[in-house]
Amino acid sequence: MKNENHLRKFIRESFISLYEQAKNLECPEATQNLELNTRNRNSAIEADYIQYGPLNLTDEAYWERAAEHWKTTPDVAKESRCYNCVAFDVSPRMQDCMPGEIMSQEDISNAMEENREWETLGYCWMHKFKCHSARTCYTWAAGGPIKDDLQSADWQERNQDV
Ligand code: SF4
Repeated sequence: MKNENHLRKFIRESFISLYEQAKNLECPEATQNLELNTRNRNSAIEADYIQYGPLNLTDEAYWERAAEHWKTTPDVAKESRCYNCVAFDVSPRMQDCMPGEIMSQEDISNAMEENREWETLGYCWMHKFKCHSARTCYTWAAGGPIKDDLQSADWQERNQDV
């Protein structure tokens, strides 16, 4: 019983410490520096292995290329977007870093629960720029979005060069 209490206390203190760290972390530089953000975004558009896009969401040629890259159909390729990518951060702390108003956490949660498409800006931890939820890139990976401050802080801790 004594060990169990110690463990609970340890977990609670660790959680509080992580939460405090998340609160104190600065915004990623690209969210505050337009020139850096634009440079990183343009690199992501141009790099053969990233191909961030499409610029125009109805650009079918882009989705056909993405489908070919993933060896699937354009309709299936369209299901892999920034909004469900593991690196796409729309946590409350990241929302505070974004210039201007973006979609609220509540609206995002409702759209996800109702399986509706939703559009907003978020931060891409893989390529370090503000990306749009309805776009995608060749390095997309399942598991997102990041909606939690602690998870966001964890990505930032592992990206200390930002
Ligand atoms: S890594 Fe994910 S969040 Fe970043 S641009 Fe690609 S699909 Fe979007």
